[in-house]
Amino acid sequence: MIRTHVLGFPRIGAQRELKRALEAYWRGQIDAGALEECGRALRARHWALQREAGLDCVCVGDFAFYDHVANHIQLFGCEPSRFGFSDADSGLVRTFTMARGVAREIGTGHGACSASGRGALEMSKWFDTNYHYLVPEFGPQTAFRLAAERLLGEVDEALALGHPVKTVLLGPLSFLYLGKSLEEGFERLDLLDSLLPVYRQLLGQLKARGVAWVQLDEPILGLDLPDAWRHAFEPAYHRLQVPGLPVLLATYFSPLAENAHLACRLPVAALHLDLVRGDEDLQSVLQWLPEHRELSLGILDGRNIWRCDLDAALDRLSALRERRGGTLWLAPSCSLLHVPLTLADDEALDAELRPWVAGAVEKLTELELLRSALSGGEAAAKVLPAFDEAREVRARRALSSRVSKKAVAARINALAPDDYRRASPFSVRQRLQRERFNLPLFPTTTIGSFPQTESIRATRAALRRGALSDGDYRSAIRNEIASAVREQEALGLDVLVHGEAERNDMVEYFGGQLEGFAFTANGWVQSYGSRCVKPPILFGDVERPRAMTVEWSRYAQSLTARPVKGMLTGPVTILQWSFVRDDVPRSLCAQQIALAIRDEVGDLEAAGLGMIQIDEPALREGLPLRRAHWRDYLAWATRTFRLSVSGVADSTQIHTHMCYAEFGDILEAITAMDADVITLEASRSGMTLLRDFADFRYPNEIGPGVYDIHSPVVPAQAQVEALVRKAAEVVPARNIWVNPDCGLKTRAWPETRAALSSMVAAARALRQEF
Ligand code: GLN
Ligand code: ZN
Repeated sequence: MIRTHVLGFPRIGAQRELKRALEAYWRGQIDAGALEECGRALRARHWALQREAGLDCVCVGDFAFYDHVANHIQLFGCEPSRFGFSDADSGLVRTFTMARGVAREIGTGHGACSASGRGALEMSKWFDTNYHYLVPEFGPQTAFRLAAERLLGEVDEALALGHPVKTVLLGPLSFLYLGKSLEEGFERLDLLDSLLPVYRQLLGQLKARGVAWVQLDEPILGLDLPDAWRHAFEPAYHRLQVPGLPVLLATYFSPLAENAHLACRLPVAALHLDLVRGDEDLQSVLQWLPEHRELSLGILDGRNIWRCDLDAALDRLSALRERRGGTLWLAPSCSLLHVPLTLADDEALDAELRPWVAGAVEKLTELELLRSALSGGEAAAKVLPAFDEAREVRARRALSSRVSKKAVAARINALAPDDYRRASPFSVRQRLQRERFNLPLFPTTTIGSFPQTESIRATRAALRRGALSDGDYRSAIRNEIASAVREQEALGLDVLVHGEAERNDMVEYFGGQLEGFAFTANGWVQSYGSRCVKPPILFGDVERPRAMTVEWSRYAQSLTARPVKGMLTGPVTILQWSFVRDDVPRSLCAQQIALAIRDEVGDLEAAGLGMIQIDEPALREGLPLRRAHWRDYLAWATRTFRLSVSGVADSTQIHTHMCYAEFGDILEAITAMDADVITLEASRSGMTLLRDFADFRYPNEIGPGVYDIHSPVVPAQAQVEALVRKAAEVVPARNIWVNPDCGLKTRAWPETRAALSSMVAAARALRQEF
């Protein structure tokens, strides 16, 4: 028998209905009843889509008003006591309090007041996706209590609509693992014993409700797990067995590798494998998974938007079918939360590309086509035309002159080792740059963006609407640049920026000007809560038809005698925040983007910009989930960065910037990037991260952020001085720059002026001291 299912479905709605309802509710414009109604309608619509496509069951439990992990915190009654919830607080109030904090205590945003007060729960990236979950907090006092009304209510809704139900839950080990310990040394695993009975109780209630299946997600099986966690799986899953309730264990995002045998041994009815990311596990699983366990094959890519190569998928499935009798399940590799709901009629998407892509709804159709073809007989005959059509589309895509470009391939082939390194070593460059720029000790600068005011946004919107001529738009942006330069000169900053008024987004701005990228009108993917992103689609060989930033940077430089930094986004970050083509390796895409950036760097240099910054904030988040894959990734990521910057003269200063505070793991790679200056987010760690740089003897110049830009709070001069002194204890003072943690686009001008003037004052005072 062949079944089809999905592991989870997008929940934000085709028109981002959930986003709108949430924000209206937070503003007090609609009440809880209206918000609940929006959720109910979305669930019903998404289940109907699944059933109309022909899936055997619908997914229940993947819906969340804010975040599915936060839902589990409530489901298991372990909301942190610091929130002080009372029985009078509704589920919604609790969700949003945990997610957003209590206003007057929010302070510096997510996680800032964690473990005390009622600040929001910390947010963390969901594995290597761009989805962020709320991190559960666990400590010795944590107790669990089943609070399943909401989940059971959703199950009842689906049953009442006549759908067979598969309930989706995060498995107990992943739930604990993904949380954080409130006390140093507290072992979250110690809570497993008290958590399991509550899970079991829930499973019992689900069975009594008449759900057909329960899916327990244990994506941590794809991580390098400590032994204690690995060993906990088997006994835990034995305790979770409920007679008559089949459990499907779902793994995804990364190979099971050494956990494959363990996954095959667990006493569950079915195992799901991610064949896109975990292909290497298949042979071992076929060997080890007992015949009576069903196998679910994640054959469609749940993380990307390309239409499936149905022929290839069918070949694989047919071969597997011969090796394995019993029931086979077909599914996307992971939850479809990570792709847009549909791309079928996207009006902004290039017409040539529209047939090439598949959102969640289109993937449901693909699943059914595969099932029919695999079933043979009449069903298979019926879908032949659809297979023919898919084949033609793929052929058109492969042959499109916009996908493969001879000139790009020739340029890549002609690259030589020298293209990947600066002409001279850092020590030589540093001397030349010092002579050229003659900067004081502790030079001050910013990371690139200045406040994106209402008027800046209105200017860009007017251009998009066609309400502003190109000429008027340019003079408006030039005015913004001129005023940013005046502000910086008045503040006394040493190295200036143009302020990025022309950019809405650091990836879209470049993707929009490069050939090989496409954009959608409605390809929204949830990032966290009501926030969605619309990743560009990298579909073909990349070329830069013309300069992208030179006009603005040159203008800024023309207004001042101080150095202005040209400002670009690096190739790895552009890749990381886009949907990337599946027909060539990621590393090749990165190289192509790097060449485009290299050309821009060259043009900026020729236009008189002596300093150029290439931001790579996403370099760290691109790290593969398995350490075994790090080396390879970091090697091409750093080579790519060097390819973008190595064409310049020794006296041109290359800066880079990274945020998200954890760099200990990738110091070797950061060093290999060989940027003359790196600016980092550092203030929240109180400069402790510099210890790693010092231990590693990081040789180049470094600008550890001296204040948190997520908060409107203005840092005191003394506070900045203290941080720089601390930095100077571990890094030579002559290599230290003074700058904020990150760009200032989310801030307003008054606090920006105040913060930067305390920063400049601190640097000046310290120059007397050192
Ligand atoms: N140059 C960008 C800015 O200042 C950097 C943004 C980032 O690091 N995320 O906004
Ligand atoms: Zn940053």
